This record gives sequence, structure tokens and C-alpha cells, in this order.
Amino acid sequence: MQKATIVVHGGAGRIRPEFREKALKGVKRAAEAGFDTLKRGGSALDAVEEAVKVLEDDPTFNAGIGSTLTVNGKIEMDASIMDGKTLNAGAVAMVSNIRHPVTLARIIMEKTDHVFIAGSFAETIAELFNLERCNPITEDRLKIWKEYKTKAIEGTYPYLPKLTDLIKLLPELIADTVGAVARDQDGNVAAATSTGGLTLKLPGRIGDTPLIGCGNYADNDAGAVSATGIGEVAIRLVIAKTICDFMKNGLIAQKAAEKGIELVIQKQNNLPMGVIAVDKYGNPGIAHNSESLSWAMITSDNLKTIAGLKYPP
Ligand code: ASP
Repeated sequence: MQKATIVVHGGAGRIRPEFREKALKGVKRAAEAGFDTLKRGGSALDAVEEAVKVLEDDPTFNAGIGSTLTVNGKIEMDASIMDGKTLNAGAVAMVSNIRHPVTLARIIMEKTDHVFIAGSFAETIAELFNLERCNPITEDRLKIWKEYKTKAIEGTYPYLPKLTDLIKLLPELIADTVGAVARDQDGNVAAATSTGGLTLKLPGRIGDTPLIGCGNYADNDAGAVSATGIGEVAIRLVIAKTICDFMKNGLIAQKAAEKGIELVIQKQNNLPMGVIAVDKYGNPGIAHNSESLSWAMITSDNLKTIAGLKYPP
């Protein structure tokens, strides 16, 4: 049997002090759910889906229930999943009332001929496959959104028509995407990522999360990566695939993750990003240049759940 590993993240956004304990508990719970799946002989793909579902159900994180709102107060969630064994991938964008966008991404991968479906037909597919519906807006998220919206109206918060202008001010925003990467006992790797996007994002804006190679990538010949932070940065650097290429060329997951963040620092003005990775041998990797990154991991070497709000802790 090969080394089994799961690593999860709860986003690179700033974590308010009152959410710290909840975030830590949430990432641990997700890592444990994913690792249970691996222990029972489940695939890496099953494990990352399970882990991300737990995070989507946790209102502490900006994915599924508790997703953040667009500038006009709507929910537009994005998610993706990728199987490193086959390179099959599925992604959804701009869905608004699905409890588990990651499961819908898996349905796109397994039940359609496509990789990525956005908008209303993605909702139709959710209906066809009887996926659970929910209203993801929570009181806490609404409060944060109103706070930022008020600042935007007063001019103390930059509400600008161009996303590039918004990006400059993004460190002020709450953005807690979730993700998981795993390697199973058969040596297969997988990655899944899910988000409500960036607070006050423009309607129709799609970030890195559902873009294969940007927010998410998995390849048994390299490893798996899930990214979080400013989506536009991850898109420009194709960061998940780039880090997988570093692993393919021989770097262990930790070194590859660090090298990915180096690129962000050097080529993207140090805008906040975080990445988790697992290489094809099951070594975990975590790196970020954001103030915090909630994360948790378990490997079959010692079966301990370790977690933190920054890395190294
Ligand atoms: N990467 C996500 C996006 O840009 C946000 C996040 O990771 O918090 O949509």
C-alpha cells in the first residue's frame, strides 16, 4: 500500500479574530473526513470531494454556505475537481443555490462531455441529478458585505468599475475559498477547489477556482494543487499547473509550492495567494504570501491531524 495524504485549505483571506478558532476546527474536520475516505479505500478523487463538501457546509468559509456576495449582492459560486489518474476534470461557475458546487463539478466531469459549464444550465444539470439546493447567504457574510458596500459608497472603500482597480485594494477583502488535494493508497492524486469568489466582485466575473490549471490541477505524473487568493493572479501565472510542472521536474511538493509563491512575489506584486500541494509520492506542500492561510493535513505516516492558520505554523 502506498502513502496516503490529504491536505486541505480554508482560504488565503484575512481571518478575523472571532473566526480563527472556527476556521481551525473546520479545516481539521475536513482533513479528517477526506482521510477517512482514503482509509476506507476510497480514491483521492472521493477524498477531495468529501473534504471540500465539509468545507462548503461550514459557514466560516467562503464556499457553499457562507459564500461571499458580488458587488450587487448576489451569489455566484465557482468550483472544480480534477482526477490525476485520467486528467479528467469538471468545473462550474456562477451557480447560486447549490449546496455542494464541488459535487456539481464532479457531475459535469462524469456525466457530460465537457469540462466547464457556467450559469443557468449548470443549475439545470444540478436539478437533473437531484442535487441539494440551499440559500448560501449567511448573516455573517451579509454583515461583512454590507460593511464593505457602505465603505464603497462613502468612498472609503474603493468601488471602481474595473476589476484591475479593485485588485489593488483586495487585501482588505475577505476571501476564504476552500480546497483539498489528496493522494490515495493506489498512488492516484486529485484536487478540488470551491469558492464564492472575491467579495464585491463584478457580476459575471469568474476567478481561478473553476479554471483547470489555475485554481486546480492534478496529474499522477506530478501531483495535485489547489490555489486560493486573488484569482486573477492565479490565472495569469496558471499557478496550479505551473506548480505541478515543478513537481514533474523533480521538486517535492513543499519546494514546488514555495517556488509557485515566489513567482507571485516576483511577477505579481506580491498580491496575496496561497497554495496546497501533494506530490506523486504523497509529500505535502503548503505555501502562501498572504497574511494567513487556514490549512490541515494528515498522512498515513503518523495519522495525526495537524493544522494552522499560517504556514509554517
Ligand atoms: N481565488 C478565489 C477567486 O479569486 C478567491 C479566494 O481564493 O479566496 O475567486
